[in-house]
Amino acid sequence: MTPPQPASAKPTHASMAQFPVAHGELLVGGLPLARLAARVGRTPFYACDRGLLTQRVAELRAALPAGVKLHYAMKANPMPAVVGHLTGQVDGLDVASAGELQIALDAGTDPRAISFAGPGKTAAELRQAVAAGILINLESFREVGILTAASAELGLPARVAVRVNPNFELKSSGMKMSGGPKPFGVDAEAVPELLAEIGRAGLAFEGFHLFAGSQNLKADALVEAQRQCFDLAVRLAERAPAPVQCLNLGGGFGIPYFPGEQRLDLTPIGANLAILQAEAEQRLPRAELVIELGRYLVGEAGLYVCRVLDRKISRGHLFLVTDGGLHHHLSASGNFGQVIRKNYPVAIGNRMQSEPGETASVVGPLCTPLDRLADRMPLGHAEVGDLVVIFQSGAYGASASPQGFLGHPPVIEVLV
Ligand SMILES: *Cc1c(COP(=O)(O)O)cnc(C)c1O
Repeated sequence: MTPPQPASAKPTHASMAQFPVAHGELLVGGLPLARLAARVGRTPFYACDRGLLTQRVAELRAALPAGVKLHYAMKANPMPAVVGHLTGQVDGLDVASAGELQIALDAGTDPRAISFAGPGKTAAELRQAVAAGILINLESFREVGILTAASAELGLPARVAVRVNPNFELKSSGMKMSGGPKPFGVDAEAVPELLAEIGRAGLAFEGFHLFAGSQNLKADALVEAQRQCFDLAVRLAERAPAPVQCLNLGGGFGIPYFPGEQRLDLTPIGANLAILQAEAEQRLPRAELVIELGRYLVGEAGLYVCRVLDRKISRGHLFLVTDGGLHHHLSASGNFGQVIRKNYPVAIGNRMQSEPGETASVVGPLCTPLDRLADRMPLGHAEVGDLVVIFQSGAYGASASPQGFLGHPPVIEVLV
């Protein structure tokens, strides 16, 4: 339990101690930030720390029962070097397009350990997936017909799991992906009919995929969702044309972005998964449990780094104008799914020793008031040339931002 904060105390950001500081500079992969910036050659850039990726996988392995498979949902950060680093450490990759599939295969991932989800898979993508031999999470009756034709043509039965849109929601989730009407998956009540079609078509049925929501920091909500997903899968398995070999319970593990948020406690999640795994031995004896995580694996290992171009005071308000902005980092600007704009953790990465004594807004070079990376935030004193760092930027960064907007150069990404 954390002690209650006095009503007057402003909530603060969680500690970003995953990046150590030496001589007033943040270290990324052991390199002082200014030296890294010199090595990269120009700002802005994203830097991801490979040691922190490895450490995060190890923490998950320690907290989750042995035998529960850990997958990386690539859309969080599809940078090939990141995918290449993680593929040797996790048990599988989840892709959401043929483009991601190519990166996964190029990284050397075993096709048997790749799964493909998404609501609008094209016939071409489905055919590529059958040829690759990966598991396809079916999200529509339409996909059955396309896969039947592709299987016949290629002489390979398509490997399929059914993505179920459950009849419940993940509570406290930043982005809800299930319950009620959704474009994702097939409504639980229609799944028995889909299973019958899969059986008639002779596709290789392997299991179920349930993904209830994203960015959740409440362990008890995740535990409840995993239990409900498990029970639903057990009920649906009675109607399946083959034994369940793979039960993907989704993920949704969140990371702290905003003041007052705290890191997720993995202990109850691991304990619950151990219970579900023991029940699976009885009720789904051939099934492996899978957890698929995107931002939880990569988000805390990445930084966005931009340089102060100007210090402007407008009617008493300090603006640090930088070369970075929403065109590279839409989510830090508050325009990627947030209802109320809040500040990511931000620091002056080459002056970490200076106390946050100035209140400043960090803005980018775009001619729009939306281009704001920090709004009236206490920061260390910064001069032109200093390096502004945005933490928690390893997920939904470059690939989730409108880089073409206003025609500035694209962002560089490095793995350190
Ligand atoms: C986006 C997505 C994920 C990853 O979500 P995170 O919040 O980044 O962990 C996992 N599975 C599916 C099906 C997704 O669409």
